[in-house]
Amino acid sequence: MAVEHAELPQQRRIVTEIPGPRSRALHERRVAAVARGVGSSLPVYVARAGGGIVEDVDGNRFIDFGSGIAVTNVGNANPRVVARAGEQLARFTHTCFMINPYEGYVEVCEALNRITPGDHEKRSILVNSGAEAVENAVKIARSATGRQAVVVFDHAYHGRTNLTMALTAKNMPYKQGFGPFAGEVYRMPMAYPFRWPTGPDNCGPEAAAQAVDLITKQIGPENVAAVLIEPIQGEGGFIVPGRGFLPALVEFCRAHGIVFIADEVQTGFARTGDMFACEHEGIVPDLITTAKGIAGGLPLAAVTGRAELMDAVHSGGLGGTYGGNPAACAAALAALETIESENLVARSRAIGEVLLPRLHALAERYDIVGDVRGRGAMVALELVAGAGDTTPNPGAIAPIVEYCHSNGLVLLTAGTYGNVIRLLPPLVIGDDLLDEGMSILEEAFARL
Ligand SMILES: *Cc1c(COP(=O)(O)O)cnc(C)c1O
Repeated sequence: MAVEHAELPQQRRIVTEIPGPRSRALHERRVAAVARGVGSSLPVYVARAGGGIVEDVDGNRFIDFGSGIAVTNVGNANPRVVARAGEQLARFTHTCFMINPYEGYVEVCEALNRITPGDHEKRSILVNSGAEAVENAVKIARSATGRQAVVVFDHAYHGRTNLTMALTAKNMPYKQGFGPFAGEVYRMPMAYPFRWPTGPDNCGPEAAAQAVDLITKQIGPENVAAVLIEPIQGEGGFIVPGRGFLPALVEFCRAHGIVFIADEVQTGFARTGDMFACEHEGIVPDLITTAKGIAGGLPLAAVTGRAELMDAVHSGGLGGTYGGNPAACAAALAALETIESENLVARSRAIGEVLLPRLHALAERYDIVGDVRGRGAMVALELVAGAGDTTPNPGAIAPIVEYCHSNGLVLLTAGTYGNVIRLLPPLVIGDDLLDEGMSILEEAFARL
């Protein structure tokens, strides 16, 4: 199902060492100009990208298994996105929705209200980034409930702003030296099947019982504004919660008037083989945060939720200069149209059906592959010390990723312990590139 990309051949091609001379020259300029706090996992500088290919300034073409971190679900420079956003740019670039509103913003909110889980009445707001969406979801939950406490989980990632740093679990590199952090944030154990002491089958119910017990004893449910969770954890290592965990949390929230917030910034927009990952266990969040895959690469994010919660905030209490930028809205409408008309939800499932068996085969062959997990086009391998020894093995990651990078495959890592290889191909990638990318990863293991 390769997308037509007239100008950019959908073929891997490595013509220089990686990074090539032009990338190295740009990197020198970058080191002198860009603060070193901003990293790059594969410092080849991009000339163009599209379909399943990223081409660098030296003419190397990489197979894209990263999608700019689950952003370009509809592919890079998707023709519909380019046309619709370009047309909008020519009409007007910005008015600020808080001064002079425009139809695109309203249309994106209508679309989000329609496609997010649950058929209750909904409202949405648009902002610029995933972190900003999460911050606003917490503001809305606090305002609507008159409560302050926010419950989050081990291995969570919610962003890099002050409140979202507090909500994020991992210290290095996200929090180190950046405190003090916001208060009234409480962290619970995560239902992490691979590392659950009594085994994956007990994980969901037992972790839910622990969370309920801890919330009840340590916070008091009547003080909790929101329970916030990624339905599949992203940066934490593509952790799919033990079955039953999410439904039990939702039930507890309903019983105590707590707002259940699903952070679907990474999992949304067909990434996991459903339009949203919540759908897998049939849960309906009160609020849902979206970003990454929403607009085909343009910066946009949203909070969508129950009308009575969203509308509880006083007029003027939500907003921002750029939130719901007109070009980003146009891009989002084009991206959504693409996801729906090309049935990328089904395509995402099909990608998972190609990737997962080959990852399981790697696990059979290599003892350091401790776990294979994920859904749709969001799948991962967790590397451990060896058979029966689940000690995290971050050391094995570098040579594998390095081999893939030098052989033309963009591959990302993740995980609290830095020992997870994650696969996030664009949903429009062709089967041939998917197959070739997996073969490179398999060769990387063979050479280890
Ligand atoms: C990436 C991410 C965020 C933060 O999004 P930004 O756009 O980088 O601010 C929040 N939550 C989850 C689950 C994410 O994956």
